[in-house]
Amino acid sequence: MSQASAASESTRLKMPVPQRAKILLVDDRPENLVTLEAILEDLGEDLVRASSGREALRQVLNHDFAVILLDVKMPDIDGFETAALIRERERSRHTPILFLTAHRDDEHLFRGYYAGAVDFLFKPLNPEVLRSKVSVFVELAKKNELLRVHAEVLESRNAELERTVAERQKAEEHVRQLNAELERRVAERTEELRRSNDQMREFTYAAAHDLQEPLRTVASYAQLLAARYRGKLDADADEFITFVVEGVQRMHVLLKDLLAYSQTANSDTAIHGQANLTSVLAKVIHSLEVTLRESSAEITHDPLPTVHGDPLQLGQVLQNLISNAVKYRSLESPRIHVAAERCGNEWVCSVKDNGLGIDPQYKELIFGIFKRLHGKQYPGTGIGLALVKRIIERHGGRVWVESEPGQGSQFFFALPAD
Ligand code: ADP
Repeated sequence: MSQASAASESTRLKMPVPQRAKILLVDDRPENLVTLEAILEDLGEDLVRASSGREALRQVLNHDFAVILLDVKMPDIDGFETAALIRERERSRHTPILFLTAHRDDEHLFRGYYAGAVDFLFKPLNPEVLRSKVSVFVELAKKNELLRVHAEVLESRNAELERTVAERQKAEEHVRQLNAELERRVAERTEELRRSNDQMREFTYAAAHDLQEPLRTVASYAQLLAARYRGKLDADADEFITFVVEGVQRMHVLLKDLLAYSQTANSDTAIHGQANLTSVLAKVIHSLEVTLRESSAEITHDPLPTVHGDPLQLGQVLQNLISNAVKYRSLESPRIHVAAERCGNEWVCSVKDNGLGIDPQYKELIFGIFKRLHGKQYPGTGIGLALVKRIIERHGGRVWVESEPGQGSQFFFALPAD
């Protein structure tokens, strides 16, 4: 790898570029050192001098060299001994050593290689050969340094990544625990709510049921009072008797509706059977005959399906929706249409009227128990649509309404199709 390409590789990886390489020149003769420096100067690397084997050893203790040029013939410690000592040191064990010698005999070469030489350069030195051999080692050293630095950076990035992964795993575990805790609490609260709902429904049913008996007594005595004393006491007394009788009648209707609602609401038994909606509707029309005739209501219907369901309960649904369509009529005579359409795996049925219509902001509210949009001029208990909703939901369906004030209403209920 050239210096330029090493630099661009390092820039890509955002890593430090290796410094200039160090070359150790070892020769006891200063004029030889000067010659070596003159030849190698062009390489642009750091040239470090040592004029003896000892000095060379000192240098290798303190620096890392790309290559060592070692004169063989030196007083005191010669080149071979110096090389052997360099090899002994951990830091310089693998530093390439080029011997500079005038001898080409085999024994000489063998001693050199044995001492750790990687190559020989013979005197007189050929500057070109010297430069190219040295630059090969310099490049090798730089490449090694670059690899080492890259390995270090990658290792630290890896460690950082492992830390991040571990932290994320810890955070995920924490979230899992929180979720589990939340789910447990929600399940607990749902169970509590279900229990208190059940108790509430049972209480409502019991109260509505038990109030019927005393109400029957009040009703019969109020009717007795009316029959015996109307017109015989003063005008106020007649009015009071009328209030009592009407109040009792209202209460009777309320208890009847409440009982019907809590009976359906309390029931958890599975729905069995098939309901032919055409004949269910026919029965409803028959039972509402008087009301429909009195209000001159016109009622039409599409071909209706047979669905999985309880005919009595679905009859109650149609009855509530149709009697509401008559009750909340506009000035025109009521025109009511019952439709059914297969949509995917559902039957979407609807009861459409041309009545007063409903402000869209109340289209959810009206399905709540005791929720009414109209006053006393329209008799009612506010239970009819709540009962419709409960019955349809027990059949695995859903209810909704589309309406605008003055535009009539269309009540929908969707039931699962077979
Ligand atoms: P209610 O006994 O009051 O009729 P419901 O539960 O049947 O009770 O209906 C709730 C309220 O929804 C009614 O009081 C009325 O205000 C409104 N509503 C129901 N059906 C219709 C309809 N077809 N057109 C207009 N308003 C309606």
